[in-house]
Amino acid sequence: MARQFFVGGNFKMNGTQKDLKAIVENLNNAQLDSNAEVVIAPPALYLDFVKQNLKNSKVEVAAQNVFNKPNGAFTGEISVSQLQDLGIKWTILGHSERRNELGESDEFVASKTKYALDNGISVIWCCGESKDTRQAGETIKFVENQLAALAKEISDWKNVVVAYEPIWAIGTGLVATKEQAQEVHAAIRSWLKKNVNEKVAEETRILYGGSVNAKNCKDLAKEEDIDGFLVGGASLKPEFVEIINSKQ
Ligand code: PEP
Repeated sequence: MARQFFVGGNFKMNGTQKDLKAIVENLNNAQLDSNAEVVIAPPALYLDFVKQNLKNSKVEVAAQNVFNKPNGAFTGEISVSQLQDLGIKWTILGHSERRNELGESDEFVASKTKYALDNGISVIWCCGESKDTRQAGETIKFVENQLAALAKEISDWKNVVVAYEPIWAIGTGLVATKEQAQEVHAAIRSWLKKNVNEKVAEETRILYGGSVNAKNCKDLAKEEDIDGFLVGGASLKPEFVEIINSKQ
């Protein structure tokens, strides 16, 4: 089965209503590859605003995070039912900025992923190594450990998209070479085959994230195991459309 090309835009903690309106209008007016699945993740405060302004029904909206409890005394968190109340079907989980700046462990990320999936929210689950880990030659082992923590919690991978995002490439302008990215993507797929099953390995989309832009996306998109991108900085710019269309 051919895997549908997928492009996510992670706006992180960027944008006011005015900025987000301009980004959304750019997407509303663009010709987007009809074969690509597109999901944008604005700050939680603006999920509804972005959803209301999106006129392109091909573009879905995602949260950047969601909690693993139904409701209650969890100041600052948002719940799955609140996302559903707004018609939001996706969330990002385990972004390295949350893992590193906010101390989210592999187990916590896995538990939130399970909770979201069990309650009908699809997940863009992020993994990826630091510069030190890469220099120590431990990239694959590190990513496999992250995958193992997730696989302990979930059995149904149908609504999971994996985003491989080497931390040293995020927001740095240092994109992984297509060979570096392909090597890790192939390793993730082979880990899924060995430790989950062949169908999950074959069907799961594996995105690359880390300084993707209009210039480097076409080459990366040609790699066998790169099924799309998770884009940070460039998703705030008009060039996001070229990235969405990079497989055309
Ligand atoms: C990201 O944060 O998911 C990301 C890939 O950022 P950037 O594209 O800016 O490197």
